[in-house]
Amino acid sequence: MDQPRDITPPQTSPETAPYWEAAREGRLLVKRCDACGERHAYPRSLCPFCFSGRTAWEEASGRGTIYAFSIMRRAKIPYAVAYVTLEEGPTVISNIVGADFDALRIGQAVRLDFRAATDGQPIPMFTPDASGAEEER
Ligand SMILES: [Zn+2]
Repeated sequence: MDQPRDITPPQTSPETAPYWEAAREGRLLVKRCDACGERHAYPRSLCPFCFSGRTAWEEASGRGTIYAFSIMRRAKIPYAVAYVTLEEGPTVISNIVGADFDALRIGQAVRLDFRAATDGQPIPMFTPDASGAEEER
């Protein structure tokens, strides 16, 4: 498992605790609004679409596609940051790991992977998914 760099532990709150708890079990959660049906990430108590408080946790497949990315080549250890659009709809910002950065492309299929923060907390990240279907663009 490559470790891109020292990863700062996330700041957790009662609002996000279930998200990080699930990450420790290797799962990625998104929130779904019971009022309007929209899913969102990062997790919030109030739906960002309709401001309803009736949101519930839902497990994501962990599959997605790269919407946009940037490679930090001047860092001591280069790393890639990307917006990944999840199969469930929301777009999340994260890192691409275990990848040949020169081969990254917009629309590329990625799947959930984890890297540990310095305190051991697994952080949801993404890695190229060779089995995933290419998104047409
Ligand atoms: Zn809503």
